[in-house]
Amino acid sequence: MAYLLPTTAPDVWRAAVARAAQLLAPSWEERPNGLKALAFILLMLSVEREQPPESIPPAAVAEDLSDQGEEPHELSRRIEAAGTTAGVLGNGYGPDTLDTLWTDLKSWQEAPGDPMGDAEGWPPALWAAVGQLHERISGPGEAVIRRTPVPVASLGALTISVGRYVNVVSPDAIVPIKCDTCNGCEGGSLRVDGPAVTFVCADGHTTANPRLEVWRVRNALAYAGLPIGADATVERDFLVTSRPYSAQSDPRYLSRFTAALLA
Ligand SMILES: [Zn+2]
Repeated sequence: MAYLLPTTAPDVWRAAVARAAQLLAPSWEERPNGLKALAFILLMLSVEREQPPESIPPAAVAEDLSDQGEEPHELSRRIEAAGTTAGVLGNGYGPDTLDTLWTDLKSWQEAPGDPMGDAEGWPPALWAAVGQLHERISGPGEAVIRRTPVPVASLGALTISVGRYVNVVSPDAIVPIKCDTCNGCEGGSLRVDGPAVTFVCADGHTTANPRLEVWRVRNALAYAGLPIGADATVERDFLVTSRPYSAQSDPRYLSRFTAALLA
């Protein structure tokens, strides 16, 4: 759950994530989008009902889920309104906000292999998640849920020190992340906190760049043979994939492919 919980997350969000995991236990990690969507729905109900997330009854969640059609636009609107009231949405991109996470969930996805965006793409992950949640939340009753222990959230902020550049690999170029303040790009570090990734340049300025996505950074760590949940040091370039590629693709392979194209 670390990716859902920046260290600065307000208590109401923390409680919503814990309650969501509890309602989905024991398999809350199988479908990350389900956990994300349910946490946002619990946050919404908590704000609307003026009741803490941990006491929202599963029946209330089930009722809301059963009202949704295949395209839950009204649900999106209510989540945004509640998230803004709670101060977790509407803050723009960057650390300390959950906007990145929410945008990912509610936006149409580019079709894989179609970086130009000509195809219609895939519907928002939220839609499928809401359908699946409806099946699951109408399942176990309150008695079962009370016996389920609240999963412990791992709180993760970690720093990846990079010897040279943090390079974002896209189909036509490899572009280093630059500092917004001094334009420096060599010898900085990445700070990962919950869903947010920021670049800290060698002079200590902080830059939030929407091309740095937490899934891709964690994926890049795995391909670089580094631990995913701890501070790490990369001696030379750190390669991270960008949006046209699947989140699981190997940035090293793509970079050779790209290098060959550019040669
Ligand atoms: Zn700088």
